[in-house]
Amino acid sequence: MTQRTDTQETEAQAKAGAVTKKAVVIDPGGDVAKIQAAIGQSNVNVEKIWLTHGHIDHVGGAAELRDALNVPIEGPHIADKFLLDNVVNSGARFGITGVRNFAPDRWLEEGDQVAVGKLTFDILHCPGHSPGSVVFFNKDMRFAHVGDVLFNGSVGRSDLPGGDHATLIKSIADKLLPLGDDVGFICGHGPGSSIGQERMTNPFLTGVA
Ligand SMILES: [Zn+2]
Ligand SMILES: [Zn+2]
Repeated sequence: MTQRTDTQETEAQAKAGAVTKKAVVIDPGGDVAKIQAAIGQSNVNVEKIWLTHGHIDHVGGAAELRDALNVPIEGPHIADKFLLDNVVNSGARFGITGVRNFAPDRWLEEGDQVAVGKLTFDILHCPGHSPGSVVFFNKDMRFAHVGDVLFNGSVGRSDLPGGDHATLIKSIADKLLPLGDDVGFICGHGPGSSIGQERMTNPFLTGVA
């Protein structure tokens, strides 16, 4: 990997932890050419690929993109290995071709930290939608990427192999709600939300907290 010097960054920006132009791609499910075009348009340096879990709509393009960008894949938790070992089979079920089975360069566990640019994210292991689902949480920015664990007004499905609804709700109650109402998140499908909004209005979390 080539190292950028960021010579245009002002001292004020540096203090604010602002624009380093370093980026990650989270959950490249496919359309690798489109992702690469977006990277080009944004003029960012992609350092890593992060995976929240092993479902094909989140990992179908990961191996191809890793080859194209020559960057490591981090995540998900090793409990989703059975999914990454079967990307080709799950693709065939949906008529998706051109995907590959793969292993990440680093499995992630509860308590791990990953970094991009100047930002550090804590890893929360949140099983239930899939056994190896992880959430990426940046404490300073009050921001999380929650994959398919929690949605705006809904929660992840739990009827796929290794899924379990009670486990999912427990993950949300034990790991996500305690992050704080002010934490905003984006998720694997649909618009983002905040922990507070979901705690107060999400019908799946009634009586949970
Ligand atoms: Zn999923
Ligand atoms: Zn999904």
